[in-house]
Amino acid sequence: MSTEESVRIPFTDLRAMHEEVRTEIEAAWRDIIDRSAFVGGPAVTSFERAFADYCGADHCVGVGSGTDALRIALQAVGVNAGELVVTVSQTFIATVEAITQSGAAPVFVDVEPVTYTMDPDRVRDYLERGCLVRQGQLFDRLNGRRVVCLLPVDLYGQPADYERLLALAAHYDLRVVEDACQAHGARYDGRVCGTFGDVSAFSFYPGKNLGAMGEAGAIVTSDEAIARQCRILREHGQRDRYIHVTGAGSNARLDALQAVVLAAKLERLPRWNEARRRVVGWYRERLAGFDLVLPRERAGSQHVYHLFVVLTKDRERVRRALEARGIATGLHYPVPLHQQDAYRDVEYARGPLTVSERVSNEGLSLPMFPHMTRSQVDAVGDALDGVLQTVGP
Ligand SMILES: *Cc1c(COP(=O)(O)O)cnc(C)c1O
Repeated sequence: MSTEESVRIPFTDLRAMHEEVRTEIEAAWRDIIDRSAFVGGPAVTSFERAFADYCGADHCVGVGSGTDALRIALQAVGVNAGELVVTVSQTFIATVEAITQSGAAPVFVDVEPVTYTMDPDRVRDYLERGCLVRQGQLFDRLNGRRVVCLLPVDLYGQPADYERLLALAAHYDLRVVEDACQAHGARYDGRVCGTFGDVSAFSFYPGKNLGAMGEAGAIVTSDEAIARQCRILREHGQRDRYIHVTGAGSNARLDALQAVVLAAKLERLPRWNEARRRVVGWYRERLAGFDLVLPRERAGSQHVYHLFVVLTKDRERVRRALEARGIATGLHYPVPLHQQDAYRDVEYARGPLTVSERVSNEGLSLPMFPHMTRSQVDAVGDALDGVLQTVGP
């Protein structure tokens, strides 16, 4: 195969997005270099205002990464060392790192078979049967630790089932931290992701739907006290310059060069998300009839397809056939967290994690980016002809 042909369809195309904003960003960067104000300052404040407005929330606190955002969000809602946070195993490791690094421990529940987001039935099973209430507080029956928080993930760009999760959280008096790191602009029941939990975490890693040109993240909340605490925690626990009110802080600030990139790209985000959804429409037409499970959208929600993940029992063969045609694919994620060495030493699972394991074993991420063309989508379909069985309509 010629080298020209070796990557015919990339997994994503950041360069095409950046060409749209290049002049704007170059001018903004020149201005920042002239003023030499690199950390915090008006560029950061102005992006924070714009992103809070975009989400429909009162506050946005820019931080250094999505991982920072999750860790600080958990600290800010008062999750303490030794406590338990209910989350999913089918996610990027940062979700759970944030829990263990704040001194708490995860409890894994399974995801829904259709949307792959936290299954409210499994959460209810755990809270009802796996926990007991003592003096108005909830404790895990197996290890006696206090259960304080739910941490659902809007996986691949699809919102979790917030109506049911928030009802459970209210009933059991749990805090909710939303991992919206893959779901910039996704909607559930008319509201934008990032507004469902007490507080939400976003990542602006370059490959995310809204990506920086380096590392960046944000915390979004409409709770004034939580926002204030996040601002303190992102900057060495300081309330005023060199006046520190907690030792739990760190250096987790957003820098100005990234803030202006994000501001420029935020203006294009609605159009880019629409473009992703258009690509999905083409995929649905071209891949109809193949023996593949296509992503399904929850009724009343708007998925933003950070990733387009199909399920196939024949993953390795399909993956090799696509790669032979120069079509890049990804696995998100090949080993669920409860089977990783990092989290294997403690028994965190509550109930079987059958769906999580299935998505992990059978999920294949196909190329997905706003500038993807219909002929590129057709080429993915052509590569699958003869590789995958077709099933009746
Ligand atoms: C990307 C991501 C994170 C972490 O974000 P970083 O900016 O890479 O630290 C956390 N959770 C999920 C679900 C992610 O996709």
